[in-house]
Amino acid sequence: MKTDFLILGGGLSGLISAAYLERANKNYILIEAQDELGGTDYGLKCVPAHSDILENPLIKLKRDLNLNFNIQTLLNPPLIFQNKTGFSDFTGFAVNNKNRALLDELSYYTQSPRLLVSNGWKTLNDELLKIIPTQKIKTKSVVTSLNFNHGKLESVTINGETQIQANTFAYALPLTSAKALLGKEALSAKFLQKFDRMQKFTVLSVDFASKKSHFTKDNLLVFNDEDFFMIGQFNSENSELSSWLSLIDSELAQDEEAVSKTLKTMKKHIKKAFPNLIEEASWERILVVPESHHSFIDLPQSGPELWFLGSNCIEGSQNIAASIKSSQNFVAKLTHCN
Ligand SMILES: Cc1cc2nc3c(=O)[nH]c(=O)nc-3n(C[C@H](O)[C@H](O)[C@H](O)COP(=O)(O)OP(=O)(O)OC[C@H]3O[C@@H](n4cnc5c(N)ncnc54)[C@H](O)[C@@H]3O)c2cc1C
Repeated sequence: MKTDFLILGGGLSGLISAAYLERANKNYILIEAQDELGGTDYGLKCVPAHSDILENPLIKLKRDLNLNFNIQTLLNPPLIFQNKTGFSDFTGFAVNNKNRALLDELSYYTQSPRLLVSNGWKTLNDELLKIIPTQKIKTKSVVTSLNFNHGKLESVTINGETQIQANTFAYALPLTSAKALLGKEALSAKFLQKFDRMQKFTVLSVDFASKKSHFTKDNLLVFNDEDFFMIGQFNSENSELSSWLSLIDSELAQDEEAVSKTLKTMKKHIKKAFPNLIEEASWERILVVPESHHSFIDLPQSGPELWFLGSNCIEGSQNIAASIKSSQNFVAKLTHCN
């Protein structure tokens, strides 16, 4: 089997790339391990708006592909909750904390103002899926190896048996698979060394839906004590929803006791700040997100035949804006010469 573009991974970055390629009338196949496309629904999802709003990747995406979803702008600056004084302006995390990398990642989400897909990120996925024909998508297809010949990527093996060749490959899989799949053929010794030293973390996320609608804050809410950090968000257009997340070391995430202790601490903080929220919740959802790497790491240069998208991309941070931008750059650079 052969195609021009082979997109590996059907998370947000893979779907966006496929939708742009479709609009450019290109020949491509999208490969996804799961039944469903869109990656994990991670709850809290806001994108810093940056100064030039028209250049924001989310707004550009909506405009370029003429997608039908609502973007809500949250202008209120983040607040921090202190036990004694209640909410006050958030001025940043403590600089001397040893978990600097985690704090850098959390700092991304505490920039203000922020954009949110107010009718849910699933709406964005559904809109993208309307563009991509189902015959160009292969679900339940796990990429099991990338096959190099003299350092050049030539094909990909799916489910250990089927090979697909392509002129251009877009790597939109999690960074955690990079070492096993790309190996020494594509990654420098320096990269591999750095990769092993990278801090790994797991995200604990708790979402609540409440029938009551008196939680009107649309700020990003930060909780910070000596060694515990948590951020949260109400979606003011849909006041039934609130999302909260905290990061823990990946090694601790294997330990059920450590996970339940963190969840307990999260709920304790939420209860102090919003005494009725948990009791009034009609449901709660807890997600322990699989291990992630903190991705401030220099990946090999993208191109000509292998491009890194999504969490592996140019901007170096694991966030949606960077994912969208990497897919936009990939398609813009390649569609004119293929
Ligand atoms: C709890 C949480 C909250 C977050 N909140 C925010 C936020 O508020 N704002 C923000 O900007 N970012 C946020 N992020 C980060 C953001 O979700 C990610 O940066 C973004 O979703 C990455 O998209 P992606 O397409 O690159 O990767 P993914 O969504 O991880 O997609 C990768 C896809 O590859 C598939 N796959 C994996 N292995 C294989 C294989 N071997 N073969 C085939 N397919 C495979 C997976 O099933 C998945 O569908 C959050 C992340 C977490 C964990």
